[in-house]
Amino acid sequence: MKRLTDVLDPPPSGEMKAGRLGPQPGGIVTQSGVPRLLLDIMQCPACGGSLVEGSQPPSLTCSACGLRYPVNDGIPVMLVDEAEPTGPDGP
Ligand SMILES: [Zn+2]
Repeated sequence: MKRLTDVLDPPPSGEMKAGRLGPQPGGIVTQSGVPRLLLDIMQCPACGGSLVEGSQPPSLTCSACGLRYPVNDGIPVMLVDEAEPTGPDGP
C-alpha cells in the first residue's frame, strides 16, 4: 500500500534527480563517456533509429540515417542542427 502512496506523492528529497547525468557509483560509462543507461534509452531525434557510439571523437552515430551527434564531456548533444551527416560508407 505504501508503494501506491509513493507514486502519487513522491518524497521531495530529490532522490530521483541525483546524479542523473554524472558518473554514478556502480554505473557503467561507455567509451564515449555517455552512461550506458542513457545510451540504452536514447534514439535518433531525426528518425528514431538506434545510436552507435564512437570514441574518436566522442560521438553517437545513428545507425539508420547516419547523423552523427557530438558528445561534450559525456553529455550527448541530441540536436539535429548540431549533428553531422555521414555517408553510408562512413567519414
Ligand atoms: Zn537517425
